Amino acid sequence: MSFTVAIDGPAASGKGTISRAVAAHFGLAHLDTGLLYRAVGKRMLEGEAPEVAASALTSEDLKDPDALRGADVAQAASKVAAIPEVRAALVDFQRAFASRAGGAVLDGRDIGTVICPDAAAKLFVTATAEVRARRRHAELRARGVETSYEAVLADVHERDERDAGRSTAPMIVAPDAVLLDTSVLSIDEAVAAAIGAVRARLGD
Ligand code: C5P
Repeated sequence: MSFTVAIDGPAASGKGTISRAVAAHFGLAHLDTGLLYRAVGKRMLEGEAPEVAASALTSEDLKDPDALRGADVAQAASKVAAIPEVRAALVDFQRAFASRAGGAVLDGRDIGTVICPDAAAKLFVTATAEVRARRRHAELRARGVETSYEAVLADVHERDERDAGRSTAPMIVAPDAVLLDTSVLSIDEAVAAAIGAVRARLGD
């Protein structure tokens, strides 16, 4: 079976884990579109104009995802993501990925609204800012990054506001998306709920 699944949601909502699991379950390819904006953000931090970086992005920029996971790159990503020219430069790559023969799961902020408005199934994965900050803090600590919960919470709030408040492709729940709040769910429960929602959308 070949179809596109759009999974959107705010930072650290669990959408990355859910997207990978949904892709594995249905045998679909997966694209974490946040990595594209992070790669542009990283190149901006290195001194390049974001519009130029976005149109010159190659697979080289994405080959070390761990180098794109830091808080400074995340902040830079959410700043470049508000620039219409940056978003426009990344559309074709995402749509080509979405329409690949075997089907695909894309996760991000505007997948169900802008990139794949006709996706077979759309989810919007969310959780309270405090739960998301706790998860992201634990994840960073496990990777040896020294940071406080308060700093992570501030980053989450700041990115939420920028992502939801921008005029081009703001983070909003698509009218036909299934809302999945993972605040009180375990990873297994969240994944099972997501797979169930996709199945229901496919009429399975
Ligand atoms: O998903 P992740 O937190 O890695 O994304 C980093 C940043 O990239 C987000 O804060 C957001 O500003 C931007 N982004 C976006 N549209 C997407 C994916 C990510 O604006 N589809």
